[in-house]
Amino acid sequence: MTYPTQPKASHFINGTYVEDDAGAPIDVIYPATGEVIAKIHSATRAIIGQALDAARAAQVEWAKMTGTERGRILRRAADIMRERNHDLSVLETWDTGKPYQETSVADATSGADALEYFGGMAATLAGQHIQLGEDWVYTVREPLGVCVGIGAWNYPTQIACWKGAPALACGNAMVFKPSETTPLSALKVAEILVEAGLPAGVYNVVQGLGDVGAALVSDPRVDKVSLTGSVPTGRKVYASAAAGMKHVTMELGGKSPMVIFDDADLDNAVSGAILGNFYSSGQVCSNGTRVFVQKGIREAFLARLTERLGKAVIGDPMDPDTSFGPMVSARQTEIVEGYIAKGVEEGARLVTGGKRLEREGFWLEPTVFADVTDDMTIAREEIFGPVMAVLDFEDETEVMARANDTEFGLAAGVFTRDLARAHRVAAGFEAGTCYINTYNDAPVEAPFGGAKQSGVGRENSAAAIEHYSQLKSVYVRMGDLEAPF
Ligand code: NAD
Repeated sequence: MTYPTQPKASHFINGTYVEDDAGAPIDVIYPATGEVIAKIHSATRAIIGQALDAARAAQVEWAKMTGTERGRILRRAADIMRERNHDLSVLETWDTGKPYQETSVADATSGADALEYFGGMAATLAGQHIQLGEDWVYTVREPLGVCVGIGAWNYPTQIACWKGAPALACGNAMVFKPSETTPLSALKVAEILVEAGLPAGVYNVVQGLGDVGAALVSDPRVDKVSLTGSVPTGRKVYASAAAGMKHVTMELGGKSPMVIFDDADLDNAVSGAILGNFYSSGQVCSNGTRVFVQKGIREAFLARLTERLGKAVIGDPMDPDTSFGPMVSARQTEIVEGYIAKGVEEGARLVTGGKRLEREGFWLEPTVFADVTDDMTIAREEIFGPVMAVLDFEDETEVMARANDTEFGLAAGVFTRDLARAHRVAAGFEAGTCYINTYNDAPVEAPFGGAKQSGVGRENSAAAIEHYSQLKSVYVRMGDLEAPF
């Protein structure tokens, strides 16, 4: 049987779809029903080699083009993505289960933003002139070569573009490996780039599990690795890249704090907590899953939150009215159920949710625990599902110490009407991405990334350019050169 979502072939190499049936089969599953919607194959050694060779060859010519020429292609790709936003969003919903209400505004659109932003920036990339008396030094911003991108399953199109756009703008080529759970949309990104005029081989997609990722990371043909994934995977990938002295960007997991003071606008704070815990069914790396609420407003906060959660529309993800979809996979559902059981067992108060929904597919209720303490498993480990932990606090000094008492440092947020306190708290957070009276905004113009175990490097903004290029310094002597003998 062929499915409407079945890609032409598993991989996209050197400007075209490529298949190798010898690779291990991977079923692509629609999370809302559990149905198989496509069948693909993992990359074999031959496919990996083909993709890396194509990227190496294409990179040389791509880097010779001017920034204006490269940028024009990326911006054209951004326009095509926007024109096809509906179809791309439907595909993303098939692949991830996320409601169309989300995919139509947050996936291909944010991928297009990255292509447009870095496309615009490509022509501005330049070195520096440093005068040294008569002599001078100039710097040349050069590409790194072949970059490997490895993605997680929560934002497949966005991750493929957030890595591809800056890499290509700088004159690199990329081999991208999507998550094995959501392999479909990165193929569309590659197809669109080629349609926009990208030379064959500059952006390639290969499929597979961790073993394919590991083979790419350790390959000597690779100069840089950018991973979006969990901390344990990040440790392995970073170590393997270090052995080859490769550049890395690590976008990893988190257990971010959201601190709500008693002077906050209650509805805004509840909105922040909803966005930072239940958007994409809680499968967002920067989620503020430790919600610290100042004691005086705790019950009012929980009452308003429970009331607002009652308005969630849980159902067919393709229906534009649906605002809460399924988990991405059976395995992720089981992991999250395990954490919910742990929360109950360790004495947290289950305020709402906690159960699987009785229907096909991988559905969990939005879940809120209150009376959570810092030592509980649900307050320490990344759950990556729709589970909010509400913790009490008395004062600012105490809550800052507790908010930072974690190995993670991806994001953090504060809700308060006190301006000085808002900035003091943001300054005190040990996190790469902070929010004041909002949560989880990720515009392409702003750097995004983690501190501590949550990662290395930054995506988006001009900061990403530093992670996809290197500077060559050229010293120019104008006079005679003296030597000791
Ligand atoms: P994961 O770590 O299991 O897998 C991520 C990717 O790495 C997948 O493509 C996987 O196939 C690949 N991989 C696994 N083992 C590998 C190895 N040894 N070598 C090379 N590649 C390997 O993560 P996931 O379950 O797909 O995604 C969820 C995690 O991603 C969460 O921890 C989440 O916080 C994190 N995440 C982070 C960001 C961010 O920007 N910081 C964004 C989204 C998700």
